Amino acid sequence: MLDYLGLEADLTTEERMIRDEARRFVDEEIRPDIGDHFEAGTFPTELIPEMGELGFYAPTIDGYGLPGVGDRAYGVLMQELEAGDSGLRSMASVQGALVMHPIHAFGSEEQKERWLPALGTGEAVGCFGLTEPEHGSNPSGMQTRAEKDGDEYVLNGSKTWITNSPIADVAVVWGRDTSAEESPVRGFLVETDRDGVTTNEIHDKLSMRASVTGDIGLDDVRVPEEDVLPGVEGMKGPLSCLTQARYGISWGVVGAARDAFETALEYAKGRDQFGGPIARFQMQQDKLAEMATKITNGQLMAYRLAELKERGELRNQQVSMAKRHNVRMAREVSRTAREMLGGNGITTDYSPMRHLANMETVYTYEGTHDIHTLVLGADLTGIPAFE
Ligand SMILES: Cc1cc2nc3c(=O)[nH]c(=O)nc-3n(C[C@H](O)[C@H](O)[C@H](O)COP(=O)(O)OP(=O)(O)OC[C@H]3O[C@@H](n4cnc5c(N)ncnc54)[C@H](O)[C@@H]3O)c2cc1C
Repeated sequence: MLDYLGLEADLTTEERMIRDEARRFVDEEIRPDIGDHFEAGTFPTELIPEMGELGFYAPTIDGYGLPGVGDRAYGVLMQELEAGDSGLRSMASVQGALVMHPIHAFGSEEQKERWLPALGTGEAVGCFGLTEPEHGSNPSGMQTRAEKDGDEYVLNGSKTWITNSPIADVAVVWGRDTSAEESPVRGFLVETDRDGVTTNEIHDKLSMRASVTGDIGLDDVRVPEEDVLPGVEGMKGPLSCLTQARYGISWGVVGAARDAFETALEYAKGRDQFGGPIARFQMQQDKLAEMATKITNGQLMAYRLAELKERGELRNQQVSMAKRHNVRMAREVSRTAREMLGGNGITTDYSPMRHLANMETVYTYEGTHDIHTLVLGADLTGIPAFE
């Protein structure tokens, strides 16, 4: 596996164990069927509890049956899962960073005890509802409303492009609390079997096919007051979850790029044209050298983010830089790897085209490439250029 600057030599025994276990899981449980799942547009839902048993969901949380591993261990885990498929890493990211993380950070003790053990084992599945049909890059414009009625809230609105919504037991829904002054954004834990909740699957995706995506309809949905996340108000609630998930993406996409590179390297050494392996051509070696260098750059960024995060010094703008850089890198690397496989490269028999297609989603979700450009631009100049 490509580790040109020997970064993995610094991993602790625990981090190596997590890496090896995730690699074994991907090799045995994901690689054999992932092409079929991608073609069929399905996620291997039967693996959700096994992923829980293996500690893939929010393993950085300590307590509630969760192991409390370090941020670098979490990054390494995301990298190995995305080497299998971005759909697999998305499942773990949403469950961990976007559902369990806000419950842990902002939830009441009752909410934590009710949900964290069940989500950690994969007995329950969660989803994160922020994006709306009319509000994607600018979620603060959200129209979902929660109106207080006695000791309940009544929710109305619609969310779209929600990973896992059709298979979720609980949705973290972000909406404006119209009963409070200035209608702040609040997080609501909405069980998907409540009256008035619908979750329709979005079909016809040409990217992230091995992942379940849907919408969430909320039509006069009554939610008790105890199901509101008490510890946060305003956009910092959803945005802090996104920083956590983007940290995982910055690591994850390095895995996808590495897998595309390894596939192209092996193919180039085995594929003969003009009397010998295509790996002997300078043009193909140039592609391999470029890919290896780009991936190594991405690895360096990911490892540095982990150091900063473990010290408690990581800024969300630094995460934006790594998400933006590493996703573009993985998109470029998977396209070059696809080229090197010739005609075979466009099939599901090999991973690069699948990774390339997935990168179109990863480039867009969790803040588009453009939005992260604006985040960096504002940080560097002090002048926000969003509007
Ligand atoms: C497969 C998939 C899974 C997803 N999962 C989830 C999920 O689990 N939960 C969730 O809440 N959301 C999820 N999303 C939604 C995702 O976060 C949004 O698609 C994303 O934020 C972009 O919003 P949009 O699609 O409405 O695009 P728009 O905001 O309409 O953007 C369209 C284009 O305009 C550009 N643009 C927008 N504003 C500016 C600006 N100020 N300056 C320059 N360019 C700009 C964008 O970069 C983009 O290129 C998912 C999306 C996909 C595709």
